[in-house]
Amino acid sequence: MQDVIIIGGSFAGLTAAMQLARARRKVTVLDTGLNRNRYAESAHNIFGHDGTPPGDLLAAARKQVRFYPTVQLIGAGAQLVAGAPDDFRVTTADGETIAGRRLILSYGIVDEMPDIPGFAQCWGKTVIHCPFCHGYEVAGKRWGLLYSSPMSLHGPTLYANWTDDITLILDGHEIPEEERDKLEKRGVKLENAKLVGITHDQGEVRSVTLEDGTEIGLDALYAHPRNRPSADLHAQLGLDMKDTPTGTMIAIGDMQAASRPGIFAAGDLVTGMHSVTFANNTGSLAAMGALHSMMA
Ligand SMILES: Cc1cc2nc3c(=O)[nH]c(=O)nc-3n(C[C@H](O)[C@H](O)[C@H](O)COP(=O)(O)OP(=O)(O)OC[C@H]3O[C@@H](n4cnc5c(N)ncnc54)[C@H](O)[C@@H]3O)c2cc1C
Repeated sequence: MQDVIIIGGSFAGLTAAMQLARARRKVTVLDTGLNRNRYAESAHNIFGHDGTPPGDLLAAARKQVRFYPTVQLIGAGAQLVAGAPDDFRVTTADGETIAGRRLILSYGIVDEMPDIPGFAQCWGKTVIHCPFCHGYEVAGKRWGLLYSSPMSLHGPTLYANWTDDITLILDGHEIPEEERDKLEKRGVKLENAKLVGITHDQGEVRSVTLEDGTEIGLDALYAHPRNRPSADLHAQLGLDMKDTPTGTMIAIGDMQAASRPGIFAAGDLVTGMHSVTFANNTGSLAAMGALHSMMA
């Protein structure tokens, strides 16, 4: 019997594993190796490791976690999950069943690429979701923002930290006249038509084409595609969920506790603030939550 089974061994899951390992707890981490930022050459805004390739960060973390004899890392996906505190059962895609007292769910989310030619090829290079992660490298250049929800209207104010050349592509969405006026007063260029194509050179955006034939020269396009959890284990467990502007996440309470006892969740699965640092933070809290619940 494992103390904790961690499903998803990336930035959140490996942080939790390290914390539990140092408390000498028996931990199994299941992971399929598809961290969300694998499309980016380097990861930024990370304490002590700014600019390091994401794969290198994870390889170092796996090596460090493997040092602890109470941890096993298994390169397999969790497919089925059931049970209750002190008797959870997780079955992998390979048919192995592992028993554990607590669960930490940290299997992240999947970005659903829109069917726009060039979008997927530029994703993580110059089509990006977060200016803190990849904005500095294109500061002062021509930025576009593809509207995805009313939250997009706040983007240009934030992006003004990096550039004063911002085009908001409304992609066929209507916005209130007063929002339009506010944005125009800030110098934001507005385009109404739908985005239909991205011209690029090996992932480097050169321009975008709209449905009405307009072509706009850009160096970076900010976009927030719809996303979904990478697995359906939260549904198998019947956990409460919460909507975000671009998808859904597991609802959590204190110490990352999910809506059923003995289950904790961390990383992109539990927050709309997607970053390695938040994943580390929530992974660490989930480990503490699981540990405390076993000490009662
Ligand atoms: C293009 C891009 C670039 C980014 N750049 C940055 C950056 O520079 N700096 C920054 O701070 N943040 C960046 N982010 C955000 C960052 O990638 C995420 O916030 C972070 O990866 C979240 O970590 P996580 O552990 O929650 O999930 P993930 O890193 O997505 O890991 C989830 C893990 O669970 C595994 N998994 C999924 N299903 C199962 C299953 N059923 N069983 C077992 N394992 C499973 C996956 O294979 C994966 O290894 C970027 C995101 C994107 C999309």
